[in-house]
Amino acid sequence: MDKKINIAVDGYSSCGKGTLAKALAKSLDYIFIDSGAMYRAVTYAMIRQGIAVYDLQKIIRLLPDLHISFKNNPQKDYYHTFLNGEDIEEGIRTMEVNELVSPVSKIDEVRSFLVQQQKKLGTGKGVVMDGRDIGTVVFPDAELKIFMIAKAEVRAERRLKELQQKGNTQVSYDQILENLNDRDLQDSTRANSPLKAAVDAVIIDNSDLTRDEQNKLALELALKRIMSDEL
Ligand code: C5P
Repeated sequence: MDKKINIAVDGYSSCGKGTLAKALAKSLDYIFIDSGAMYRAVTYAMIRQGIAVYDLQKIIRLLPDLHISFKNNPQKDYYHTFLNGEDIEEGIRTMEVNELVSPVSKIDEVRSFLVQQQKKLGTGKGVVMDGRDIGTVVFPDAELKIFMIAKAEVRAERRLKELQQKGNTQVSYDQILENLNDRDLQDSTRANSPLKAAVDAVIIDNSDLTRDEQNKLALELALKRIMSDEL
């Protein structure tokens, strides 16, 4: 399979977008990009420097100093986010960042700064990117667009288990559910690039699917798309 395509994976918070996108990237030997990690990195940098979400001038001055990169090794299941050379993977997954990231993502200047970089990452094709606006704004020409949905209670339960497995027992199910619902509402009602399915996206509801089932379904869709493009 010489032909490479770009794959956009969008959907609600904690729907398993990252899991599905990573599995696809691994199977196809593509690059995986977590666009949410980029919004998290900006949020993390603002928290660290004590910059409030309403302080637009400081945010505009901060952005050019932020160099966000990834170290990806799909074969070793290693995907870490770096900010100016520092591994910030753990720091961007805290509740503090969870609570601030959606307000930060509404800022036009933040979006255009990151979208420009995301578009560039896709120019060579062979990218699976997950996020909220990948099929609509970042890769409107992606050959395959997937939009993932799942019941909020199922998503919160999965997220809780994941955190507990990582040894985090501080956060409750109710806190997680509230944060998911709050982020989904903010993300889908914002004026700039709201979370919504592209008209040509394939919807996958994984409420009742196992990881393997959803990954298999997505891989079949991708292979079909690649083959039809090669004909
Ligand atoms: O994907 P993740 O949940 O890590 O994304 C964190 C937040 O970043 C989302 O809730 C959303 O506010 C924002 N985001 C966005 N556009 C993207 C990816 C993420 O606005 N493409």
